[in-house]
This record gives sequence, C-alpha cells and structure tokens, in this order.
Amino acid sequence: MKAEIISIGTELLLGEITDTNASYLASQLPPLGIDLLWVTQVGDNLDRLRECLERAWGRSDVVLTTGGLGPTEDDLTREAIAAMLGEELSVDPELERGLRELFSHRGFTMPESNVKQATLIPSAQAIPNPSGTAPGWWVEKGRGERGEPKILIAMPGPPSEMRHMWETDVAGRLRERLQGDVILSRTIKTLGMTEAGVAEVVKPLLSSHNPTLAVYAKTDGIHLRLTAKAKKREEAEEMIAKREIELRSLLSDIIWGSNEETLEGLVGTLLVEKGLTLATMESCSGGLLANTITDVPGSSKYFKGGLVAYTNEVKISYGVSTALIARHGAISPEVAGDMARVARERLGADIGVGITGVAGPTEDEGKPVGTVHIAIDDGRETRLALGIYPQLRHQVKRRATYHALFELRRTLVSMK
Ligand code: ATP
Ligand code: MG
Repeated sequence: MKAEIISIGTELLLGEITDTNASYLASQLPPLGIDLLWVTQVGDNLDRLRECLERAWGRSDVVLTTGGLGPTEDDLTREAIAAMLGEELSVDPELERGLRELFSHRGFTMPESNVKQATLIPSAQAIPNPSGTAPGWWVEKGRGERGEPKILIAMPGPPSEMRHMWETDVAGRLRERLQGDVILSRTIKTLGMTEAGVAEVVKPLLSSHNPTLAVYAKTDGIHLRLTAKAKKREEAEEMIAKREIELRSLLSDIIWGSNEETLEGLVGTLLVEKGLTLATMESCSGGLLANTITDVPGSSKYFKGGLVAYTNEVKISYGVSTALIARHGAISPEVAGDMARVARERLGADIGVGITGVAGPTEDEGKPVGTVHIAIDDGRETRLALGIYPQLRHQVKRRATYHALFELRRTLVSMK
C-alpha cells in the first residue's frame, strides 16, 4: 500500500513550527506494512491545497492529512477535499448537535463559524475527536491499483489531538484493511568510530535487501538501523535478531545501546544499580555534561553536582594542581584527570568526571580546535580519553558530553 502525508498550514512553510505530525505518522506506518512514498507541506491556500490533494489522490492508496480542520477562514482542508472529489459539503445534523452540546457543556454558545466543523461530503465519515472540537474525516472512494477503495484521512493539526485520533481510531481501522507486510526496525547505537569507519566494518551487510542496514551519524555516535519486511511480525523480529548478532560481533567494543536508549539514561541506571554517586568538573563543555545528566528523571539519586571551571584561576581555586597546569597546560590528560579527582573529592562522590578542551573557534595552548581530554576517576583508577572533533563550538561541546558519558558507561560496566 502506497501512502502519502500532506501537512497543511502556512506556519509550517514560514518555519514557525516543525512538522512533527508528519514524522510521527511516518514512524507509525512501517509497522502496519504501509510504504510512505511522499510527504508534502502546503500552506492554507485553497488552490494549492487542492492541487496537492489531487496529485496525492492520483498516485497513492492512502492519503493522510493533518491541519486545517479548525473553524476559521484559513482552515480549508474540508473545502479542498470536497472540491478535489467534486462533492458537495453539507452540515451533518448529528455532528452539529454533538458540537453544540460540547460548547454548552463548557458553558459557551457555539460561534456560528464552528458549524463548518460539522460538515461532511457523501464519501466521508466523521472520525470522533474526544480531545478537541474538529472531527476528522475518513473518506473512501474509487479504486486503487489493488482494487481496494482509496482512502483519505483528514486529521486535526494540534499534535495531541492528531495522535489521539490516530491511536484510538485510525491506526486500528487501517490495520483491519491491510493484510500486507509488517516492517520492523531496530537501531543499534555506537560511539568511538567515524561513520566511514563503521560503514567499512559492516560493508558486507550493507548490500543486503532484507533486512536492510543503514548507517547514520548522530551527536551521540553512529547509529545503525536494521529494517526487516515479512508477512508476520515474528518473522521480521527473527530476521532482525539474527542480523543484530552479526553486527554485535563486528562492533562489540563500540556498541552502547539500542532504540530509544540514551547514554545519560543508561549511565543513570548503572549508577543506581551499583549504588554509586557522580560529580563533574567541566571546562570546555561549559556545564553541558551536568545538564545532560540531569535530563534524566530521578538523577538526583546519583548526581551530586557539577562544577564549571572555565578559567585556570577557577580550576585552581577549586583545587586543581597549579603545577600540573603549568607543566602540561590546562588542555591535557593530566589536568583532566586532576579535575575528575577534584570533582569527586570536593563534591563527595564515588566517581568524578573531568572535561577540558578547545571548543574553538581558535586554537588554544597550541592545541587544535576540537581537542578534548576526558577523565573518569573512581578513586582507584583514572580512565582517560582523547577526542578530536573538528567542528563548530556547540558541536564540540555536545560531542565531548556524549564521549564523556560513553567512557563513564564503559567504566561502570567494567566495575565489579
Ligand atoms: P485548530 O482547530 O486548532 O485550528 P486545525 O486542525 O485547523 O486545528 P491547524 O490550524 O492547521 O489545525 O493547526 C493548529 C496548531 O496545531 C498549529 O498552530 C500548530 O501548533 C499545530 N500543528 C499543526 N500542524 C502541525 C504539524 N504538521 N506538526 C506539528 N504541529 C502542527
Ligand atoms: Mg486551524
């Protein structure tokens, strides 16, 4: 089944909002075995909207639209669908009664402009919208290539209403219609090698058609996405599981997680499991590590706190060795190690992390932009890591943060 998404709203074209509706729906279609082939964004303009709908209706079996179902004049989705299909809009008495009741229930009289939310065309059925006023439309008409009626589903723009409608109604109805393939995906996350390096290692697997393997560079490392297509869910699951074993044997050292897992979340879980606490001292990352650690709910259980020591004076005032800074420079493994020790001791934690480096845009102490030293001190040993990220300032900070979390995870996993 070929599907297409049309996101409707001038706000999208002005860059004022991001099209999260399309990405949400895109993520929902593969498990149903529906192939998404096009995503379009169009403004609140009747002619252009109609043109998009015509094109979509001509080439796709399922067309999903979001937005433009409100009561105002720039909400034109119903009008455009009616025009595209050559059908007349009329007010559905039952929908109108429901809408008026909804308003009186909330203590308002319904503005007359809202009556357009109670309109239908002969090919459309209303889809209930328990979290808003505008019902969606389920339209069936004509025949696609497979001889089945074509389907057009119009859903509201507000993401929570759209999702609710999708989850409680639309997804189930679509599933019933389909006896198609199931498409499943799984993401394996790595850190420590470049995208090209990872691609080289997994090269023999990249040419496979089912499951497919794709490599993506992300801030928290290189992700590998496996996607399998099969008649049954279990079959697809098994294909992915087998391929994952091969991937793990090729990349075991650098794999840190999968799917929705995050480094900060995994580190948190490990710290809780081991009953250990953490403290940080950051220079070039400016507190981003502490910020990322505290993105995890419940991080107060294990995170004691973080020091941001940007200048040498501040590092020294917290207790970093003046002699080490004089001998090796602040951007050195020795000073990173001492920062980790100071964080651990001063903040009374079991483990300290130190980050020092050059975020750019110019080199420092003769060390090139993107040089970052990371240290993890657990009171017995200090694990050191060096990163070279030749990138923009904010990217260097983010890369350094994830690299530090990656080393921290490694340290925790290897601890008894
Ligand atoms: P309303 O009754 O609220 O007018 P609507 O169905 O007419 O609903 P729109 O007016 O198109 O929807 O959008 C309402 C709001 O929903 C937008 O201001 C925006 O915040 C959000 N929204 C719309 N489309 C999208 C989208 N594709 N992705 C993310 N958010 C969206
Ligand atoms: Mg609107």
